Amino acid sequence: MIFVTTKGLFENKHLNKITMAFKGAIDVDSQKCKGCGVCVENCPTKSIELSKLVNNKGYHYAEMVGEACIGCSNCAIVCPDSVITVYRVKI
Ligand code: SF4
Ligand code: SF4
Repeated sequence: MIFVTTKGLFENKHLNKITMAFKGAIDVDSQKCKGCGVCVENCPTKSIELSKLVNNKGYHYAEMVGEACIGCSNCAIVCPDSVITVYRVKI
C-alpha cells in the first residue's frame, strides 16, 4: 500500500515506523512559565492550555489537558524559557 504524507509517498514497509504510537506527558515549571502561549500554538494534539490560575508572577501558566499528548516534544523545543519537560513511552 502506498500512502501520502507531507513528506511524500511511502510504501507499506515503512508504515510501522511512521505510525508507531507514543503516549506522552509534560511537566511545566509553572512558576517559571511566562504564559506566552507559544507551546499552546505548537502542540499538534491541542494538549496544552493556559491555566485560569496564575503563578507568583501573575502569569497564566501552561498546563497539560486531556490524554492526547504523544510526547512529540514540540512544546519543549519552542518554549523560549525551557520550562517544559516531556515524558514519552512507546505503546
Ligand atoms: S509533547 Fe507534543 S503532544 Fe505533548 S503537549 Fe508537547 S507538543 Fe503537545
Ligand atoms: S512556551 Fe514556555 S513560557 Fe510560554 S506558555 Fe509555554 S511553557 Fe510557558
